[in-house]
Amino acid sequence: MFYCYACGNVRGWPDGIINSQGRCEVCGKMALCSDVPSSELPDPEIPCKRCGNTTANLGTKLCNGCWEVEHRLEVYLKSELAREHVHSLLCKKRYVIVKE
Ligand SMILES: [Zn+2]
Ligand SMILES: [Zn+2]
Repeated sequence: MFYCYACGNVRGWPDGIINSQGRCEVCGKMALCSDVPSSELPDPEIPCKRCGNTTANLGTKLCNGCWEVEHRLEVYLKSELAREHVHSLLCKKRYVIVKE
């Protein structure tokens, strides 16, 4: 894991022995980052708050798949073909939203 001081500090991650300038994998900012193998980090896995799949706890509480969808869906839906595709999926019975 390659992370800046601020992100490491928030998560209780150690300062790495090797520090170099680069893009933090957590916040995406260019900063002086620690390069520490993920296996050495106290990085408990958590269930994704959307789908429940186990995912690394990186602060978003979303697995990679859910994160991608939630951050890109609006862009995707700008395409009419994309909207038709989503609509056809939603129209299948198994995707019907059940309100209690
Ligand atoms: Zn960061
Ligand atoms: Zn998920």
